[in-house]
Amino acid sequence: MRNDFGVIVVGGGHAGTEAAYASGRMGIPTLLITHSIETIGFMSCNPAIGGIGKGHLVKEISAMGGIMPRASDRSAIHARTLNASKGPAVRATRIQADRDLYRRAVRQAIETCPNVFLFQQPVDDLILEGDRVVGVRTQLGIEFYAQAVILTTGTFLSGKIHVGDKSHTGGRAGAAAAKDLSSFLRAHPKIRYGRLKTGTPARIDQASIDYSKLEKQPSDVTAPFDFWAEEDKPDQVDCFITHTNAKTHKVIQDNIHLSAMFSGNIEGPGPRYCPSVEDKIHRFAHQEKHQIFLEPEGLQTREVYPNGISTSLPYSVQLQFIRTIKGLENAHITRPGYAIEYDYFDPRDLTPYLASKWVENLFFAGQINGTTGYEEAAAQGLLAGINAALRIQGKPDWYPERHQAYMGVLVDDLNQQGAQEPYRMFTSRAEHRLLLREDNADLRLSEKAHALGLLTKEQKQALDKKEKRIEAYKKDLHSKRVEPNSLASQVLRKKSGVISGEVLVASELIKRPEVQAEHLQEAFPGCFTDTLAMEQVVIQAKYAGYIDRQTQEVSKKQKQSKTVIPRDFDYNKVKGLSNEVLEKLQKSKPHTIGQAERMSGMTPAAISLIMIYLKRYQPVEQIT
Ligand code: FAD
Repeated sequence: MRNDFGVIVVGGGHAGTEAAYASGRMGIPTLLITHSIETIGFMSCNPAIGGIGKGHLVKEISAMGGIMPRASDRSAIHARTLNASKGPAVRATRIQADRDLYRRAVRQAIETCPNVFLFQQPVDDLILEGDRVVGVRTQLGIEFYAQAVILTTGTFLSGKIHVGDKSHTGGRAGAAAAKDLSSFLRAHPKIRYGRLKTGTPARIDQASIDYSKLEKQPSDVTAPFDFWAEEDKPDQVDCFITHTNAKTHKVIQDNIHLSAMFSGNIEGPGPRYCPSVEDKIHRFAHQEKHQIFLEPEGLQTREVYPNGISTSLPYSVQLQFIRTIKGLENAHITRPGYAIEYDYFDPRDLTPYLASKWVENLFFAGQINGTTGYEEAAAQGLLAGINAALRIQGKPDWYPERHQAYMGVLVDDLNQQGAQEPYRMFTSRAEHRLLLREDNADLRLSEKAHALGLLTKEQKQALDKKEKRIEAYKKDLHSKRVEPNSLASQVLRKKSGVISGEVLVASELIKRPEVQAEHLQEAFPGCFTDTLAMEQVVIQAKYAGYIDRQTQEVSKKQKQSKTVIPRDFDYNKVKGLSNEVLEKLQKSKPHTIGQAERMSGMTPAAISLIMIYLKRYQPVEQIT
């Protein structure tokens, strides 16, 4: 008897759960196969979600109805808005999760999702028919068949854990590696692969920390991640800040040769933006101290995550250097830190909708593609789940473009540039940052999510209501006047310092930097009561000039992408192209500038040289 599904997702981490949740909601019978049902939604490293660029991805996942934002809200025991004093494009939400509550929230979402089924077994092989994947085979030899398979195996493929000079195979601490699946993929003649590494710090027993010496970092009142459900956050707890010092650096420097990273035991490069403590001390030797955030792992556990000191030094050195740090003089380590290296598969072998170019109906999502981070993994899982479902439905593929979503930036970067080192998201990776804010992710993406079948009726109604309110508030602001000496004028003077002897129109007032949404809510009691809609109106008004400029840039670029390059175009005549670019263009003869832009190795400078030549010497034709 054959076990048949529409989609099979291998892996129950952050990519796998979003993939299964998306394809299940799109009506496709989906099987999620993973090593252990207990570890569905498990966070391998720091139980924290969001941050600059990453928080933007989580908001986009929410806009598309995904799991991560809801699980984050349900488990957030500490929350902050990063860059709160900066512009809205770079403001970002970050929460510290209760590891256990988070895992349970993800599992509950998966177990209550229609069309999603679970199975616990390691997957060892893919079943292929020619160049097409048709199913998977597990360790017990059980076969499952499907029209599409999504691989989301994280750090597990040929994973090797290092602590000092000791190493053993493993997918993460306490979990076996996936060797057979890795060998299977490595054996494919066209799929390229490499090794990357990441690491995690030791965990410390809260009872052994002297908090009286440390700076407290309380939770702030941050709006929830999820656009749709305002979950009550669990009890909030404080994080604390401490620093490394000269003694810490000396212990690390004296023992650096014992670190797996420095002894040459590890082949792959690690995450540039989340380096190990020995890496920081080696690379930034002039720096006197490095900040460490002491972050609780949950409400029901005493374990603390010391953020900023991930390491692959031997346990004894870990203990020695940790005990040089203020507040940690008597620290008890509950789990040693370690580094892990693992196989990743080159995302340049994928399409931007994460399908393999070489094996039909096979998708890859998450850390297997060379990214690092839960949020990057979840965003890819969502896109892979959507596209696997679309393929089964016989519909065109979909992925957002760079100006529509950070998810679009992510898959475009991976697809064009690959991942020579673990890839993490930052706002600086997006050229149209002001269009891609956390606050407007639902306005950018939720219509599409609804069209794809990812939103419930209630979510769509909430979106429509918000959009209508935004328009109504914009209109109302034009009709609201602030008369001198009126109650509204007194409130504004007190709250934002605006003093005027003339009548002021509210729609002009909100453009002033000192006037905030809540000032107008107070100045006009009973009006503008929907805070999120009002916040949107205020941001759109304050930044209208910049937003318009970026919108114009996008449409100019889109128009440029449609420019046709004549078949007989002689690239030799374009002065300034590198030999590599020239050779690639002559070989692949792109039909449009857009196609040329998407070629690997293409640079913006080369595109502008071609555009100048086309405009100067040929009549420019555009595809419609
Ligand atoms: P994972 O969350 O790893 O999930 C993979 C899933 O696939 C698991 O459920 C596993 O059981 C399953 N699986 C694997 N192989 C098979 C198979 N053959 N058959 C069945 N099931 C299989 N991120 C950061 O942003 N910052 C950090 O500092 C950081 N440090 C990290 C440190 C360590 C030690 C580790 C392990 C990870 C770290 N990460 C960090 C990365 C973060 O954990 C991952 O980016 C994220 O979990 C990737 O999600 P994923 O869904 O791709 O994979």
